[in-house]
Amino acid sequence: MADGGGTTFLEVQGRCPICGPDATFAASSTWLRDSFACTRCHSLPRERAVMAAIEMFVPQWRDKLIHESSPVWRGVSARLQQDAKGYSFSYFDHTRPLGGPHFVSGAVNQNIESMTFEDASFDLFLTQDVFEHIFRPDLAIREIERVLKPGGHTIMTVPMVNREQPSERRAALEGDTVRHIKPAAYHGDPVNADGTLVTFDWGFDVCAYFSSWSDLRGSMLIIDDLGRGIRAAYNEVIVMRRGPWPPL
Ligand SMILES: [Zn+2]
Repeated sequence: MADGGGTTFLEVQGRCPICGPDATFAASSTWLRDSFACTRCHSLPRERAVMAAIEMFVPQWRDKLIHESSPVWRGVSARLQQDAKGYSFSYFDHTRPLGGPHFVSGAVNQNIESMTFEDASFDLFLTQDVFEHIFRPDLAIREIERVLKPGGHTIMTVPMVNREQPSERRAALEGDTVRHIKPAAYHGDPVNADGTLVTFDWGFDVCAYFSSWSDLRGSMLIIDDLGRGIRAAYNEVIVMRRGPWPPL
């Protein structure tokens, strides 16, 4: 519903999975994915979907060891840092030693394709819109599997722009040189004003791809619930588990 002033495309009252009841979700454009924000915690729909997934699959998250690669400081990342004492996070700066501090305060410097964490370090490994920017997702998913405890989960978002079409590589790294297979495209980056190159256009085969490179098993979660402010394009959440799923 419009507010009459022409600045709000959609406004809904509801319960935010991140910041709680009596929330207002307001979108300034028809592209809800990047505009349908919670006016209180500033989260976007995919972040509210991630929090809903965490509550479903890791309900004891406050007491768990959680690592997030390349968080954006709002919404679910801010909530986890505030309320989960075992939360840590990383960014990657290739000029700094791996495992040491990153220039972002509180962050550890990690390359998700080759992390310095011990095996079985975490109950939950989180990435939000990271896997469309890395060159070796095969290495990254095996690293996530390695650092997860048995029974641990990885929860991630990645825009599946290819939908039912096969995933496609947009760019490859050959030595220190980027080879562009498709025209270069960039997304906003919380720690790089120039943005980050998009390396993959993912499709719904992404879970099968991850399972082909690891023993992680899982699926996509699709939530469409305006009462929780969860509605947008490319809003699927991937939930994968290390080890067998609990018997039904
Ligand atoms: Zn909120």
